[in-house]
Amino acid sequence: MTTETSIQDFKAALLGELLQPGNAGYDEARKIYNSMIDKHPRLIARCEDVADVILAVNYARDNNLVLAVKAGGHSAPGLSVCDDGLVIDLTHMNGIRVNKDDKTVRVEGGCTLGALDHATHAFGLAVPCGVISTTGIGGLTLGGGSGYLTRKYGLSIDNLLEADMVLADGSFVTASEDKHEDLFWAIRGGGGNFGVVTSFLFQAHPVSMDYAGPMLWELDQVKPVMQWYRDFMLDAPEDLYGFFAFLQVPPGEPFPEAYHNKKMGGIIWCYSGDMDKAEKVFEPIRNLVPKPAIDLVGPIPHPALQGMFDPLFPPGHQWYMKGDFITEIPDEAIDQHIAFARKIPTLLSGIHLYPINGAAHKVKEDATAWAFREANWSQVIIGVDPDPKNKDKIIEWARAYHDAIHPYAAGGAYVNFLMDEGEERIKDTYRGNYDKLARIKYKYDPDNLFRMNQNIKPLATA
Ligand code: FAD
Repeated sequence: MTTETSIQDFKAALLGELLQPGNAGYDEARKIYNSMIDKHPRLIARCEDVADVILAVNYARDNNLVLAVKAGGHSAPGLSVCDDGLVIDLTHMNGIRVNKDDKTVRVEGGCTLGALDHATHAFGLAVPCGVISTTGIGGLTLGGGSGYLTRKYGLSIDNLLEADMVLADGSFVTASEDKHEDLFWAIRGGGGNFGVVTSFLFQAHPVSMDYAGPMLWELDQVKPVMQWYRDFMLDAPEDLYGFFAFLQVPPGEPFPEAYHNKKMGGIIWCYSGDMDKAEKVFEPIRNLVPKPAIDLVGPIPHPALQGMFDPLFPPGHQWYMKGDFITEIPDEAIDQHIAFARKIPTLLSGIHLYPINGAAHKVKEDATAWAFREANWSQVIIGVDPDPKNKDKIIEWARAYHDAIHPYAAGGAYVNFLMDEGEERIKDTYRGNYDKLARIKYKYDPDNLFRMNQNIKPLATA
């Protein structure tokens, strides 16, 4: 049972801080990226090292506390914070070491994508990850991790070599292709279900400059562009990535004033091949009929591209998302996209279709927990606004949009784009891999200590 004495002993044993309601810094520490989430943990352990994580896992288990693990805090449904229980806050565990000789990177569990890109860029390297630099590498990787380099180098999990973990019984293990192989299989897509990852080892790749940026069309002109895109992106060179978006143009530089606040559709490109060939790659795209109304595609250092949308999406906005895996985009779906784009409710709301083909398709469906290898896009509708008064408006639009577009989806969704959508949706997402995940969960966490996640229920092996 949690008593004041046990809390004091726990606090004394930790290298990091232990925060309780009323302590300075507690309210800041319980905040996460999505300000719709407002939870009050009993304790927040700001872990400084693996030993702190072991102490915190043992404390939560022995005292029957709900346990949440926070890295970047980007979970839209708020799975990195809990009411009443204990939060393991990894944000101080943010060390990174690049090995330039074998091009691997050791990344502690609480790092952000921005810190990782910063560290690797100095060596002309990058690890495939996501498109907003404040996102945590922890949650992103454990769910899969898609971004500008996915078509060229695969998902983040496809570049994961090993992970150091603290398990539910407080033991510390390394999971890799030849150590705890079942665990290594499960954490590549299975989320935070299996333990706390204290560090990841990634394979990095030579990426320094990209030729990238948005290319947008007016909604009246966008249908043939999206028809072209859906076919083109299936067989495009793997150096070339482009996610389709419907959005409202931000009212500021570098967007031309004539288009400020306009609802538009188009592609956010990233070419990461030979820079000398970039202009040639984009020549036919720039000559599409109709021509793009806005073309901001050009050379950009990789970390700058990764942080390009950060100013629009600082922490603290209201967020609501709905995801789907997509294999094809029929004309009827395009019509629905355009209809809902016309009704985008706030400046920052929109939809993105992130390609997950190319190199990500070369990994077999049963090789990792990520179960939709044949899907071509991971789609996400985002309702976003700084003002809590617009909460209902963004949720209603995202849900109505999803209801209209979901019939054209492949089933399931990227686990990191799920809200609190129930067990069936999680099973749909892992489909053929679910039972294996549930058995591995039983082996490593039979009492479901790690349940603040898209939860896989432990299944006893007969
Ligand atoms: P947290 O909220 O800290 O954690 C999310 C979940 O992972 C929780 O269940 C937590 O317990 C668990 N977890 C986190 N770290 C660990 C760890 N070290 N050990 C064990 N469990 C852990 N996804 C993409 O793939 N590509 C994108 O480009 C992308 N862009 C995004 C942009 C925004 C603005 C947002 C809000 C989300 C985006 N996502 C993207 C989704 C993102 O991958 C998930 O929100 C992910 O969970 C974020 O990880 P985090 O560490 O920041 O989150």
